[in-house]
Amino acid sequence: MNAPPRPHEAGPVTVGVDLGGTGTRIVVLDADGTVRRETSSPTAAGISPTRAAAELADSIAAAAAGFALRAVGIGASGPVDRLGVIRNPDTLPAYSDIPITDIISDRLGIGCVIDNDAVTAAIGEHNNGAGRGSDTLLVVTLGTGIGVALFCHGHAARAADGSHPEAGHLAVNGPSAPCYCGLPTCWEQLASRTALDRLTGNRSAELAIKARTGDPDAAAVFDVYGRRVGAGLGTLLTLLKPDRVVIGGGAARYLDLAETGMRRSLRRAPGFTAVLELRAAELGNLAGAIGAAILARRTA
Ligand SMILES: [Zn+2]
Repeated sequence: MNAPPRPHEAGPVTVGVDLGGTGTRIVVLDADGTVRRETSSPTAAGISPTRAAAELADSIAAAAAGFALRAVGIGASGPVDRLGVIRNPDTLPAYSDIPITDIISDRLGIGCVIDNDAVTAAIGEHNNGAGRGSDTLLVVTLGTGIGVALFCHGHAARAADGSHPEAGHLAVNGPSAPCYCGLPTCWEQLASRTALDRLTGNRSAELAIKARTGDPDAAAVFDVYGRRVGAGLGTLLTLLKPDRVVIGGGAARYLDLAETGMRRSLRRAPGFTAVLELRAAELGNLAGAIGAAILARRTA
């Protein structure tokens, strides 16, 4: 058996950071697309943005110690403006409204790029995961919120101002589910992983085991959840007509239980029902960080 190559033998690497509302994940990716090191920690909160950015730079340096670090990419939860500034006081207050890429770039002496985490997750899945070979890939991340990215011929679809469309916030049919975006019944409030946990009384994993062993009541809960995921997904399919949909985020592990309800709510009249190639994400919780590292390799 060959010994694993030591860090200095890996060649130039890039670091990808997935800056989530709850946790921060850092991966070191080599030129072959292999994750060489991975760390995770709670996302900073309650400290000044400047200090949070400086500490993040130090965490990146520590993760890449011993490697030839070439560039850093960040996938951030929520809106990122055209200048690369995070505008997310709701879930990333410690990193919002500062020139975060400049701070990290100056501190580490290398390039730093940033995009929305749904976009970096799509880049990760498109290159290294369940989206390989798709020309028009829709990636839906069911996590703390809902992230959506359309990856069309190798590029993420953008709004006119260069930002990433917040397509998790769609008006859907269903029970009242008011959202901070202003909608009285918002898709994100009904179909995120957080919403699933609300639906199951924070017993999603336990109910999934029961549903998989034939408990009809537990299966019915995931059927309801699947229909709620389908309620918004149907609108996206009508608008975007992707050739493949990849479902990621924490709720993707229940796709087998939710798929029947989801497909039922996607049914339309003959000729209007999308022919859907549906896959669970392959990179799991690493998609956003791996995609950020790939973004860094391409653009920094
Ligand atoms: Zn909303």
